[in-house]
Amino acid sequence: MKLVIIGGGAGGPAAASRARRLNEENEILMLEKGEHISYGHCGLPYYIGGVIKNRSDLMISSPAKFMQLYNVEVRVRSLVKGILPDTKQVEAVDLNTDKSYRESYDKLLLSSGASPIKPPLPGIDTEGIFTLRNLTDADKIRQFISNRKPRKAVVIGGGFIGLEMAENLIHLMMDVTVVEMLDQVMPILDREMADILHRTLTLHGVELALSDPVAGFERRDERIMVKMKSDREIPCDMVILSIGVKPDIELAKSAGLDIGETGGIKVNEYMQTSNPDIYAVGDAVETIHLVTGKPSLVPLAGPATRQSRIAVNNMYGRSEKYRGTLGTSLVKVFETTVGTVGANEKILKRFGILYQKCYVEPFSHVTYYPDAAQMSIKLLFAPDSGRILGSQIVGSDGVDKRIDTLASAISDGKSIEDLYHLELGYVPQFGSAKEALNIAGYVATNILNGDMPVEHWDNFDELMKNGIFLDVRPADVIGMGMIPKAINIPLNELRGRINELPKNSPIYVYCNVGVESYIVTRMLRLNGYDARNMSGGYGIYKCVCLYEGAKASQATVSPLPEVIRAVPDADAKSVTLLDACGLQCPGPILKVKQKMDELQNGEILEVSANDTGFATDLPAWCRSVGHEVLSIEIREGKIIGKVRKRETNDEELSQNIQTPGTTLREKTMVIFSSDMDRIMAAFIIANGAAAMGSKVNMFFTFWGLNVLRKPENVSVQKTFMERMFSRMMPKGLPKLKLSKMNMGGMGTRMMKREMKNKNVNSLEELIEMARKAGIRLIACTMTMNMMGLKKEELIDGIEEGGVAAFLENADRSNFTLFI
Ligand code: FAD
Repeated sequence: MKLVIIGGGAGGPAAASRARRLNEENEILMLEKGEHISYGHCGLPYYIGGVIKNRSDLMISSPAKFMQLYNVEVRVRSLVKGILPDTKQVEAVDLNTDKSYRESYDKLLLSSGASPIKPPLPGIDTEGIFTLRNLTDADKIRQFISNRKPRKAVVIGGGFIGLEMAENLIHLMMDVTVVEMLDQVMPILDREMADILHRTLTLHGVELALSDPVAGFERRDERIMVKMKSDREIPCDMVILSIGVKPDIELAKSAGLDIGETGGIKVNEYMQTSNPDIYAVGDAVETIHLVTGKPSLVPLAGPATRQSRIAVNNMYGRSEKYRGTLGTSLVKVFETTVGTVGANEKILKRFGILYQKCYVEPFSHVTYYPDAAQMSIKLLFAPDSGRILGSQIVGSDGVDKRIDTLASAISDGKSIEDLYHLELGYVPQFGSAKEALNIAGYVATNILNGDMPVEHWDNFDELMKNGIFLDVRPADVIGMGMIPKAINIPLNELRGRINELPKNSPIYVYCNVGVESYIVTRMLRLNGYDARNMSGGYGIYKCVCLYEGAKASQATVSPLPEVIRAVPDADAKSVTLLDACGLQCPGPILKVKQKMDELQNGEILEVSANDTGFATDLPAWCRSVGHEVLSIEIREGKIIGKVRKRETNDEELSQNIQTPGTTLREKTMVIFSSDMDRIMAAFIIANGAAAMGSKVNMFFTFWGLNVLRKPENVSVQKTFMERMFSRMMPKGLPKLKLSKMNMGGMGTRMMKREMKNKNVNSLEELIEMARKAGIRLIACTMTMNMMGLKKEELIDGIEEGGVAAFLENADRSNFTLFI
């Protein structure tokens, strides 16, 4: 038998060596169009960044070694141009001589891989724009960097390769922006999990330009202008285009092989194409996803080499099935490791697969042993059988072994109960007696057996309507932000204050990550309350609701977590050090508070923590109590925050500190105007502030009161003057006009049309959002009296209040806007 293999990347060499191990006699020929075979594709970003110093270290094998070791003939620079299935031949060209020739085969293995997607955008061929697929690409990038010394790079696409390149370009001291059309990097993660990665990237100085697709490129003077759909232009010196890969299927098409619905070559379980003598493997094929049962493209090295072994086994008469792909993957971005396996929530939704989910935040190993690091685990499982469907883990240590254990469990069709019963190895250096995956199993089982009913933040709007939110975190940390209208009763006070809670409505309990809230949920349920645990706690609320709220209100709120980059500090000598590593949120903040209480005004505290949320929690907490954050940075995998103590007087404190049950930093707005544009601005600001966790009061007075009027006629008793006022004033939102360029109503109509075309929320929608966000809309009773406006004439949900109400709100607020 003569076996011809097309492609010398990952799949081809694996197939060639396997074939020789099964048969000593057969002729094996491998054709590769490039100059090299069998090298570490996955190391290319690190070779560019200088982490892998020698090019030769990437070389796993060579044509000479293949001949010597396996008696396999390898022809590099041999491009296969076509397959002739009728005569069982391939047509190749020797790129050194340009000579074409034909080569016969008995069995053919196609491992042609995938190519980087290069959309036909204006300027796409501008010099300085690179894709990275092979060693030649890497050589070109290295040479460009060495010759041109670029200072600013734009990486387009926030997937595996894009992020690995971003990290390596930062190591090369470049400024880096990652442009991504989605609202997150690593689309393989669900959005809330990607937020942790956003934080890491931002802390390392990578600028993220999310939700903004690239529209084109232009060379201007010495620079490349990256043009975005939003009209933003990013000047840079080089671009890495890494927006994904597409299977190389031209040869398969030329041979008339079936192509699957995802665009990959269609193969059966034996890795056989629609032609029984042609097998295909790797990035070029579509395979069945083990969880969804649907065809999928999973361009990873592990599946490629396993598929090769199976394909060759079958060619040589063994009957072996490829079981399907799980997409188990790992990526390390600076000190953060991301692991994924199985299906994510987006995929489950897309295929209509029912699921339940939970979040846990265990440590890599026991916290009393040095360098324990927290990780976030999201587990997805079937709501009936408990079968594990997928998981995402983000952390700095121990992610890989957990994701691989889960991969093994999912492959075997294991359930969350199996996870709970898994016996895993433990010593303090590597784990805990209560192992991370066992904990995930306990939590998931508690959900399914009804011990701990959970609710999820993506259902927040609905939950707000019918229940109350109970915040059980210590009062000292709620300055970091809390849910609008939530009641704060810390866990340790709850037994004495349980009677403050109503028994006739659901109570949604939350803490930071879901541990204390679990204890409270159990306590309340055993006492006859309808308590439910808010899964993932306030950490997930921030990622889901605050972000969604900001997006919906179109407020100019950054979707990225707030971080402050390190600046050189002149006062380094007088710094008190605090180690808050190994503590779970809110532990680090409570420890910071204790320490700050001991310090004198003006003294500096440097605190290190490895709780992933600390980078955003510390600034939020400091703002609430008045301390000054000097820097937040990542050092050796730890978050290091530097804070200067600032003593606040009572008056400042009353503005900044939250009292239980109220929200941090209230905002009060006096709405005096009834101009459409001003009202729009007011609601956009209000929704944005609410989305960022502030309580907002909008006090409508004089002409502003017209905004709240119902557009329809309401029959109420009025005096002559009141009727006159009523007629002369605009009746509700449809009658509001622009303050400028109204042009007899034409300008206002044009503006509304433009807003619709550009998907800008209407005023009606903005008000609805404000209501949902718990913003208080207060009508000034004095103006109502004066103009004869009755409560029935106002839209629903409006509170009435006088000047005292306004002053009280304004007193609690850290800003009052007059519009
Ligand atoms: P390839 O390895 O791409 O091999 C295909 C070969 O076929 C190529 O050498 C190509 O030149 C040759 N070829 C194509 N057409 C012809 C033709 N007509 N004639 C002759 N030769 C032809 N995967 C992971 O699992 N983990 C990682 O960390 C990881 N990191 C990566 C980092 C980078 C920068 C890149 C580019 C990829 C990475 N991958 C990673 C993906 C992994 O490299 C691929 O999944 C794997 O190489 C696929 O193997 P393959 O044999 O299907 O294709």
